[in-house]
Formats: sequence, C-alpha cells, structure tokens
Amino acid sequence: MDLNTTASDAKRLIVLDLDDTLYDEADFVASARREISRRLSEKYDLAADELMSVMEHPRDGENAFDALDRHLRGIAGVKIDESIDWMVDVYRSHMPDIHLAKPVEDALKQLAADKRNCICVLTRGHFFTQTNKAHALGLYRYLSMPPMICAIGKSEDVADNKDDCFRRLHKLPDVTVRISVGDNPATDFATPNGLGWVTIAIADHGRNIHPQNFDDVAPGCRPSYVIDSVAELPAIVESL
Ligand SMILES: [Mg+2]
Repeated sequence: MDLNTTASDAKRLIVLDLDDTLYDEADFVASARREISRRLSEKYDLAADELMSVMEHPRDGENAFDALDRHLRGIAGVKIDESIDWMVDVYRSHMPDIHLAKPVEDALKQLAADKRNCICVLTRGHFFTQTNKAHALGLYRYLSMPPMICAIGKSEDVADNKDDCFRRLHKLPDVTVRISVGDNPATDFATPNGLGWVTIAIADHGRNIHPQNFDDVAPGCRPSYVIDSVAELPAIVESL
C-alpha cells in the first residue's frame, strides 16, 4: 500500500481498532458458535440450541470447542466427522453475523463526512477473519484506506504487529493530528503515545475479550481519554 497517495488532503488521522472498539467481539464469538451449531444441526439432525448451550457452559478446564467435541463424541448412534480443527476453521472463516450499533455507525458517518479526517482501521488477527468482520460491519464506506491487518500467520506483505503499522501511519504526509482509538492497553496506546498521538480508549462495559485495566499497566500504555462509546468520538476529534 502506498500511504503517500491515500490521504494527501487529510489533516486528522483517526486510527480505529476493530474488536471491542467498533463492535463487541463477544458478538463475533456468538456468531461463530451459531454457525457451527447450525451446520452440525443440519447435517446430523441435532438440536442447534443444545449445541450452543454446550459451548456456552464448558466444564472446568475446557474451552467451548473442547466441550462441544466431548458432547458430540458422546451422542449414541451418531458418528460425527467434524473435529475441533473444523470448529476453529469455521470460527475463523465464516461470514459473521455482526453489526455496528446505530450510535457507532452515526459517529463513523459523521467523521467520514468531514474531509479533514482520514479514517483507518488497524487490527490484528487472521487476515480473512478480520476482512470478513470489516465487510460484515459495512466499514469500507467510512474508511479512507483499506483496513490494515496485522496478520497472525503467514502473509509476508503485511506487518505483523500494530506498532510497525502505527509507525508507518505516522509517516502519512499533511497530517497535523493523529489519533488512536482502541480498547486494549497492551496494544493500542503505547506506541501512539510515544509518537505524540492523542489516544482514546473505549471503556469496557463488561463484555471485552481482553482485560482493560489501566491501573495495572505502565503510564505510557494509558490513553489520553477514556470514553463510553465511539459515539463520543466526533466531539473529541472536533475539539483537537
Ligand atoms: Mg480491540
């Protein structure tokens, strides 16, 4: 990607994390479990609700897929072909049933309408998983450039950590204000803070996948602002 040609007129660079920033990642997890349950239910005539329930209530020491695998092996008279690897593959590759909350969508619309804003999504994960999420959420219409995905796994032409991406984005020309919006103090704020960016955390309302405890991290990992929702972002951006 040639960053020099993507946002030459932008004055404010707004870099948005994806999971647990623009939507609740727990909704993605639930979507994957529904898809796994649906496929098994259709193939083997099993009750999808029961399969969902098994994944939602694993025994001590089990994860959701361990629990489902144990359950499936215990069904008398049914030989299940699908393995835990299959479940992981469906989890990563399915087109998720996830949506932007209306206030988040309204905020993105408002930010995108201001031509001084260059809006980018920066996320880490499996390439197709993160791409599917961005499509399902309808993010492309609001972005000034394709999502930057720090891929877990193979691809050689993408950086493998968010810090490298932040440093690349920092070189975008004609930008006077740079903003990182995220949820995770371990990955979303330290490098931007070091580069002099404004950092904004979306508060965890109890559903986040990664812990959000600003007291337990080094001062450099703490955000400049903590807000309740992306809906508050346009007002802060406007004030910078
Ligand atoms: Mg996140």
